[in-house]
Amino acid sequence: MKSFKSIPGTFDILPEGHTSGGDLIAPVALWQHVEQVVRRVMAGYGAQEIRTPILEPTELVARGVGQLTDIVSKEMFAFERGSTNYVLRPEVTAPVMRSYLQHHLEQKGGVQKLYYIGPCFRAERPQKGRYRQFHQFGLEVIGASDARADAETIACAADIYQALGINDYRLRINSLGDENSRPRYKEALIAFLKPLEDELSEVSRGRLESNPLRILDTKNEKERQLLSDAPILIDFIDDESRAHYEAVKAHLTAIGIAFEEDPFLVRGLDYYSRTSFEFESDVLGAQGALAGGGRYDLLSTEVGSKKVVPAVGFAAGMERLLMTMHEAGLAALEESRLDVFMVGLGDAAADWIFPTAHRLRALGLTVGYDLKGRSMKAQMREANRRNARRVVVVGDDELENEIAQVKDMDQSEQHPVPFGELEQMLQP
Ligand code: AMP
Repeated sequence: MKSFKSIPGTFDILPEGHTSGGDLIAPVALWQHVEQVVRRVMAGYGAQEIRTPILEPTELVARGVGQLTDIVSKEMFAFERGSTNYVLRPEVTAPVMRSYLQHHLEQKGGVQKLYYIGPCFRAERPQKGRYRQFHQFGLEVIGASDARADAETIACAADIYQALGINDYRLRINSLGDENSRPRYKEALIAFLKPLEDELSEVSRGRLESNPLRILDTKNEKERQLLSDAPILIDFIDDESRAHYEAVKAHLTAIGIAFEEDPFLVRGLDYYSRTSFEFESDVLGAQGALAGGGRYDLLSTEVGSKKVVPAVGFAAGMERLLMTMHEAGLAALEESRLDVFMVGLGDAAADWIFPTAHRLRALGLTVGYDLKGRSMKAQMREANRRNARRVVVVGDDELENEIAQVKDMDQSEQHPVPFGELEQMLQP
C-alpha cells in the first residue's frame, strides 16, 4: 500500500512537539501563544487584523515584489488554470496593498495599520529554518510618510520579541533613498565591481548587470573583503531621504531601541525605498533573519494605484522566532490540563457519562472520557496522562445510588457527590 508523507519543506504542527526533516517543530500551544502575543502587541499599536487569500494573481506578485528578485524569478509556486495565473502568496505586503487599493481603504481617512498572521510559500531548497510553506506575521502602516511611522513599525516588531523574552538579536537599519538614488548608486556600484568581475562568485557575476545591489548581501568572505572599499548607498541618497533617515534614527533612540547602521543592507525585495531594516537572531546561525521590512512608497503605483501611497511595514518568520525561543530556553509551556476526566465501566455508565459530559462542557469546563470501552485502570491512566484536575468515577453502585465519586487529583482526596449537585460542585 502506498503511504503518504508531507512534502519536503512543509510540516505538520501537532499537539505535541516533534521533529520534521531534522528540525524541531514546536507544539501547537506554543504557536498559539506566540500568535496571542502578536495580536496583543499589534492591538497596542492600534493595528487591526487583515486576512487576504492564499491565492493571488501571479502578476500582482511579479509586479509588486519585482521581476528581478529571487522570489519572483525562481521561488514562486505559480500555476495556470484556464486563462488565469495564480500564485501561492510568497509574502503578504503586495496582497495587503492590493486589498487596500481594491477596497479604497484610503477613504476611511487617517492611516491604516493592518497586521496579518499566516502561511506563505516559496519554492526554496528546504534546509534548517528554510521551508517551502512557512508562516509570517507582519504589520503594514499605510498612508503615512512620517518617520515616526517607520520607527513605530520597527518598535512593534521589537516589542513582540521583547514580550516573548527574546533579547539576543541585532537590529540593522539603512536608507535606500528615493527612486532616483538607487539608479545612480547602481551605476557607481557596477563601475566599482566591473574591474573585479573575475574575482566574484558565479552567482554575483550573474547579478552584476541585473541586480548588483544583491551582491551586497553576500556571505562570501572574499567578496565581503572586495566590497569593503565599495561605494555606499547612503552617499548617493537625496537630501530629503537623508533627513528622513536621521529622523527615524532619532525616534528609535528616543524610545530606547538599539540599532546598528549597515550601509550594505538593501534587502531582496524591489519595492523598498528609504528605510530598510532587518532583525537578525544571534543564536540561529545561517538562516538568522528573524524579520525584515522597510518603507515601500513605490509599491502602490507598481500595482495599479494612480496616486503614491506612502507605507512602511515589517514581515517576520514564525519558524525562526520559535527556533530562537527554543535555543534561548524560552519554549517551556504550561502543561495543558483537562478540568474533568470521567471514568466509568459498562454501557450504563457510558450512557450516563455522555450527556453529563455534554452539560459540563456547556458550563465551560474541559471534559474528557473514554471512547474505547477500556478498563477502569486504563481510563485512570488516561486521566493522569491528560493531567486532569478532577476525575469523576461512576461504577454500578454509584449509578444505583446516583452518587459519583469525585477525586481531586492535586489533593489526592475523594468525595461522594450526588448526581444532582455535580454541576454545581464542578462549576468553574
Ligand atoms: P522576507 O519577506 O524574505 O523579508 O522574509 C521575512 C521573514 O520571513 C524572514 O526574515 C524570515 O524570518 C522569514 N522567511 C522568509 N523566507 C522563509 C522560508 N523559506 N522559511 C522560513 N522562514 C522564512
